Amino acid sequence: MRIDIISVLPELIESPLNHSIIKRAKDKGFVEIHLHNLRDYTLDKHKRVDDYPFGGSAGMVMQIEPIDRLISELKKERNYDEIIFTSPDGERFDQKMANSLSMTQNLIILCGHYKGIDFRVREHLITKEISIGDYVLTGGELAAAIICDSVVRVIPGVISDEQSALSDSFQDNLLAPPVYTRPAEYKGWKVPEVLLSGHQRKIEEWQLQQSIDRTQKLRPDLLK
Ligand code: SAH
Repeated sequence: MRIDIISVLPELIESPLNHSIIKRAKDKGFVEIHLHNLRDYTLDKHKRVDDYPFGGSAGMVMQIEPIDRLISELKKERNYDEIIFTSPDGERFDQKMANSLSMTQNLIILCGHYKGIDFRVREHLITKEISIGDYVLTGGELAAAIICDSVVRVIPGVISDEQSALSDSFQDNLLAPPVYTRPAEYKGWKVPEVLLSGHQRKIEEWQLQQSIDRTQKLRPDLLK
């Protein structure tokens, strides 16, 4: 899989995508992530990529021209499954969307900044708009990092124990059961006995019941 991220501040995304599982996924060849600085694609001699909004309102607007130039160049090289724009008014991101994006070959993620982006980009160049939640960020970079992280970790093979990704919260619309590690007793606080029993079927039954109970209590909306 290949992900191209377009941003005016690519430095903001570098660190989250260069550690832990995502770094290993890149090193093992499961994913290539390319960061593009939009300023390299403007013809403006001051490297500006934004301008005042028509009609006069607060804030600056990202211009269509450098974005179109960069996306066109990328599209000449390969076909993209989706050209994504991160936006608070986009479709709400969730595990299901992460799973389905992890099955694609090539993605572009365009990060907005400033007041937003010339709307013609959204009308003519973008195929999918994603929001990571009902709050407003300064830019789309953190949203892009979140999308990449959650997509890459479910690419089959990325997490060596595949079960581990499948048993996370939201897979099967259930929250994950509690997990514990040694010591079995700490300050008198004990680990549930069944987990120490070595009885695999009983352990699995307990984990499933815990998942159901926790989902009912904390996120009943997932069970509908
Ligand atoms: N004026 C816009 C917000 C601009 S915030 C509005 O009211 O809708 C600047 C950029 O940050 C946006 O263009 C978008 O790319 C990104 N962004 C902000 N909040 C986001 C969210 N919840 N999900 C995804 N991207 C977001």
